[in-house]
Amino acid sequence: MSGDVPEWLGRYAGSLLPVFGVPQTVLSHGQGCYVVDVDGKRYLDLLGGIAVNTLGHGHPALVEAVTKQASALLHVSNFFTSEPQIELAETILRLAQAPVGSAVFFANSGTEAIEAAIKLTRRTGRSRIIAAQGSFHGRSTGALALTWKPAYREPFEPLIPDVVHVPYDDEEALQAAVTDAADNLAAVILEPIQGEGGVIPASTAYLRLARELTTAAGALLVFDEIQSGIGRTGDWFAFQDAGIVPDAFTLAKGLAGGVPIGALVTVGPAVTAMLTPGQHGSTFGGNPLACAAGLATLRTVESDGLLAHAREMGEHLASAVLALNHPLIEQVRGRGLLRAIVLRKEASATVAARALEAGFLVNAVAPQAIRLAPPLVIEAHELDTFVAALPGLLEGLGDPAEDSA
Ligand SMILES: *Cc1c(COP(=O)(O)O)cnc(C)c1O
Repeated sequence: MSGDVPEWLGRYAGSLLPVFGVPQTVLSHGQGCYVVDVDGKRYLDLLGGIAVNTLGHGHPALVEAVTKQASALLHVSNFFTSEPQIELAETILRLAQAPVGSAVFFANSGTEAIEAAIKLTRRTGRSRIIAAQGSFHGRSTGALALTWKPAYREPFEPLIPDVVHVPYDDEEALQAAVTDAADNLAAVILEPIQGEGGVIPASTAYLRLARELTTAAGALLVFDEIQSGIGRTGDWFAFQDAGIVPDAFTLAKGLAGGVPIGALVTVGPAVTAMLTPGQHGSTFGGNPLACAAGLATLRTVESDGLLAHAREMGEHLASAVLALNHPLIEQVRGRGLLRAIVLRKEASATVAARALEAGFLVNAVAPQAIRLAPPLVIEAHELDTFVAALPGLLEGLGDPAEDSA
């Protein structure tokens, strides 16, 4: 193993477009919920590549599926199809309990799934799209128009017009925006749980209202399940917890357990019929390798009972963190294994840096929020090692009670 991290990072800085900032760590391999860097240091992966590594690292079912598919067929183009493509689409529709006539479009990333959704909304013949403040829908120029953070959007304006951002989880604001759009409302697009926004779940009442209002307005309801989908919250898709069905939803991150993929699902024949042959496409979309990985991921989540496990582990984590009774910890947000530990101070970047040093991968998703999105296969004793380390990671960051005294 070549252990010269500073040299690798220097070469990174000299060769990669500096849109991410230079990472601190060069990872080499992984197994289960652990990854190892080029110096041989081991980390507990509590981020899962941002909710991507559904089955952790080196899972035998995923390795076997990818290996077999790589030697059978890597790519065929959409002039042809393959069994994994058809089977993955059918499996997604079955897990979503989508009615007959529903359909899947495969893309290669989350932002591309959103692009497909935006094109779908254009087929309503209307242009207004309502999205939420705090939302993240991707970085390609269409998706970027829906993404909230002004620092992401503004350097690239003008973006597609007629996108309105309303305060998230605010029923009155949504109602007012729908009324204001009148008969030009094409769609409301929401994350049932905002991921990049800081792991913030919307209330069931809000999601149901979004369903009622879009139905009444003859507009589409689109859920972005790119981060919250694939069992992460303890349901296959987070919207299932609210007992409603959107007109379309997007998937990506966890769908193929680490192989790039994205998907737009259209629910029911009327929505499916809105896009016709020639209106959309992708060279790599539905690629047999990605679809075989997706199929192995979904089958393993199903056969290993990982929905119930995600729910159970999420609750274990939340109650163990709260049981610390730490003055700096305000709450634990989220559902299943999509969680944020919310601090009373803007100290998440410091905590994440200390965690890395101590052998834990976490993410400072917001100044006061530490995001955890570990593989769904994580076990209680692994989570417990992090919870045990947490007081040490928070040490000396100040006691808010003393600050205000
Ligand atoms: C990550 C993410 C995206 C963008 O996905 P990419 O694969 O990075 O393009 C879109 N929406 C949500 C909710 C996400 O979490």
